[in-house]
Amino acid sequence: MSSFGPLLRPTTALLLTKLTSLLLLLDCSSFFSVALVKQTAGFRSSTTDPRTNPVSRVTLSAEGGPPQYQKLGGVLRRSECMGKGSYLLSIDVSDEEGGAVGETSKWEAYEPGHVLAMEIQPPASFDNSEDETGSPSSMTTMSEKTQKDLEANGGWLRGPYTVSRGHGSSINQDGFQVLVKEVGYKSHVFAVSEPETPVRFGGRFKVPIVEGILAAAESTDEEDKNSKHEEDPTRRVVMIASGVGVGPCVGAIEDLMKSDSSASSKIAYIDLIASFRTSDEIAMGVDLDKLVEEPTSMGFRWLPVITEETGRLSSNGPEVLREMYLKPASSDATASPIRNTHYHIIGNGQLVNEWTAGLKMAGVPSSRVTTEAYFNHAAKPDPAAVETISEAVVGLDSTISKEVTTGKVSQTAASA
Ligand SMILES: Cc1cc2nc3c(=O)[nH]c(=O)nc-3n(C[C@H](O)[C@H](O)[C@H](O)COP(=O)(O)OP(=O)(O)OC[C@H]3O[C@@H](n4cnc5c(N)ncnc54)[C@H](O)[C@@H]3O)c2cc1C
Repeated sequence: MSSFGPLLRPTTALLLTKLTSLLLLLDCSSFFSVALVKQTAGFRSSTTDPRTNPVSRVTLSAEGGPPQYQKLGGVLRRSECMGKGSYLLSIDVSDEEGGAVGETSKWEAYEPGHVLAMEIQPPASFDNSEDETGSPSSMTTMSEKTQKDLEANGGWLRGPYTVSRGHGSSINQDGFQVLVKEVGYKSHVFAVSEPETPVRFGGRFKVPIVEGILAAAESTDEEDKNSKHEEDPTRRVVMIASGVGVGPCVGAIEDLMKSDSSASSKIAYIDLIASFRTSDEIAMGVDLDKLVEEPTSMGFRWLPVITEETGRLSSNGPEVLREMYLKPASSDATASPIRNTHYHIIGNGQLVNEWTAGLKMAGVPSSRVTTEAYFNHAAKPDPAAVETISEAVVGLDSTISKEVTTGKVSQTAASA
């Protein structure tokens, strides 16, 4: 269920997605104070330290100001390394009752793609390690900005993170999982913390990935100016992830495969193109291989891209992008990459911005493009990459249309 009320009309979902995207252009602390105030206006504050009372719920307020946001207590059950530098955190709600004051504080399950605030306390000390240049390591030394935010937040590190799975340490456990890349002090603390470390979390932003896909699947949204083909259903989903952006894709694919909605029944194939800098950074490969074997009516394949070896997805021209990555599996070779395909782009802001622009240029309805940028939000799209993406999509569309017209596709599908 969405954080934004019961079922959203695609237009409303889209507007909210865009609004939250705007908020995410702000830095972390602005993100929390702007967005979370909206959620909890009217609540009174109380503060308890979950380190001494891990089952507590906390309502925080700005000093002397109105309450800003409310947090639940959780416990980090485990942090598992899923690939070089990537850690899957399993967090369980530590109070089964959930909630502190009033209705909105009740625990409500998250879904893959929800964004929440996660908090943890720094350890008393780290070994003073140095990086290869002899400077203090950014993993064990707090930046000034992090230090300031820690002080403003009562001694807790905080940051926005995206839910990978809507359950905690086991499928039946209230909680959630988040895939974190260890890139700086805060993410290092999350990654190396011991099991049973108390955490706090709160907030519920963005439309979950599956909800966004299904809301747009049968969209007839007349306000979608980019759409020339509003009434074609989604028959294929293409997810493009960089780094730990793969985590929420895994959870969303698991959920999509289990969905019994009429919109999901028309989706014949899901492709995930996941890029990583080096092959040892590939994360959640085991989970993805399991999904390939899953006996469902939806076909699934995933393709890793190792950027250090082959360059970025869009750096080798439209033919390579089309033939090696975007070409659909033969069993659903008639799905148009413009009219029948939903794209979810997640991870590095540059990748997100370039694909958003390239798909728009190709004429993909904007309701069928959902995104989540983790960092590098302000990156300007490289015009060459945008053109490559657009040309690859348009070229593939015309190949498929020709094959459908000449009847070649049905032969391919029959022999598949
Ligand atoms: C909406 C939203 C959702 C997010 N979801 C996730 C998530 O699910 N998992 C996750 O690991 N991070 C996510 N982030 C990023 C996260 O909030 C922190 O920025 C990250 O953990 C780095 O914090 P730090 O203090 O450890 O390092 P910092 O010192 O703040 O950052 C060090 C460097 O790493 C870069 N960086 C930040 N995040 C990443 C990343 N994921 N991969 C590669 N480089 C990165 C930064 O741009 C910076 O240059 C999300 C951010 C936003 C805005």
